Amino acid sequence: MLETTFSIVKPDATKRNLIGKIVSRFEEEGLCVRAMKMKQLSAQEAEGFYAEHRERPFFKDLVNFMTSGPVVLMALQGEGAVLRNREIMGATNPADAAEGTLRKLYAESIEANSVHGSDSAESAARELAYFFSGIELYNN
Ligand code: GDP
Repeated sequence: MLETTFSIVKPDATKRNLIGKIVSRFEEEGLCVRAMKMKQLSAQEAEGFYAEHRERPFFKDLVNFMTSGPVVLMALQGEGAVLRNREIMGATNPADAAEGTLRKLYAESIEANSVHGSDSAESAARELAYFFSGIELYNN
């Protein structure tokens, strides 16, 4: 099924000049960029985005990390894009991530793990709408 998922190149990766390598990988794997913008998130934006983690002990650290530099926000479209993106990213903790995944290749830690990807079609719809308006998404 053709799907659109939401992806972020996180601050640890933008700082290390890895935007192109990460976007290239998605393109090589058959995912198409349908929207893209670079943005410095405010604390409020990061807190809202990760609201489901509000009670987790690492929430404050996560918000500090996500606002520590610019991020690249993207809509990625392709067959089964939600799961495909998760496979390309690898496990949350780079120590557990499979060989060749973006997090295995690039993540610095369980927190500074270079990329975000929606975990379900429902999350993708919510996350895309959080950062993009409909007219910013291209479909052909
Ligand atoms: P994801 O879906 O693989 O991104 O993982 P989660 O939804 O569980 O966590 C969201 C983000 O919070 C992760 O991508 C990490 O950046 C961060 N994170 C997750 N677990 C931890 C943790 O145990 N400690 C810290 N400091 N950050 C974490």
